[in-house]
Amino acid sequence: MSTRENLEKVRAAIAAAEAEAARKSGAVRLVAVSKTKPADEITPVIEAGQRVFGENRVQEAQSKWPALMAETADIELHLIGPLQSNKTADAVALFDVIQTVDREKIAREIAREIKKQDKHPRLYVQVNTGSEPQKAGIEPDEASSFLKLCRDELGLMISGLMCIPPVEENPGPHFALLAKIARENDIDTLSMGMSDDFETAIAFGATEVRVGSAIFGTR
Ligand SMILES: *Cc1c(COP(=O)(O)O)cnc(C)c1O
Repeated sequence: MSTRENLEKVRAAIAAAEAEAARKSGAVRLVAVSKTKPADEITPVIEAGQRVFGENRVQEAQSKWPALMAETADIELHLIGPLQSNKTADAVALFDVIQTVDREKIAREIAREIKKQDKHPRLYVQVNTGSEPQKAGIEPDEASSFLKLCRDELGLMISGLMCIPPVEENPGPHFALLAKIARENDIDTLSMGMSDDFETAIAFGATEVRVGSAIFGTR
């Protein structure tokens, strides 16, 4: 199947999951994850009308997206991978959304770059819902205090939360936990769900799903 057909299938599955969960049609945005895919595989997806894309590495995004963005005005680019501090300036310059604010040091550097560049990407905090030692993200029981630090001390507008559940676990409880932390902290954007579990995530209140391989094929 072509990426264009895959995209149509994913869109239809999102619409069906919205209906199934009695959510409004269009309540869930699709972030097409184009990491590792070359520009010539991304172009057909843009031509099919997709405008929101996710990349997990700053450098790779810098090499692909400025040219694609010059051709299509209303692309929205999300950083969904861990941010290294030496890449913060580049990330603030390039991305419309940074989904992976995951520690105080990075939050402070983002705040400094936002001032310096007068650029205002939307910011989400990544929560390590499974408390996995190897995974980035704020521990669930520290999320509220971290959000307070970002908002009150650093003046950052945090509009969303994102999580990546442990691969071997039922994702439902992780999605429910992220939704609970969002409710407690007045956050309305929930970035959760990938190719294998986006329908479940929609049932638990996802407002954005990050789908890569179901659109672009295996990496
Ligand atoms: C790669 C990636 C995705 C997309 O994963 P698929 O299983 O290919 O849909 C989503 N979120 C993050 C953070 C990723 O790194």
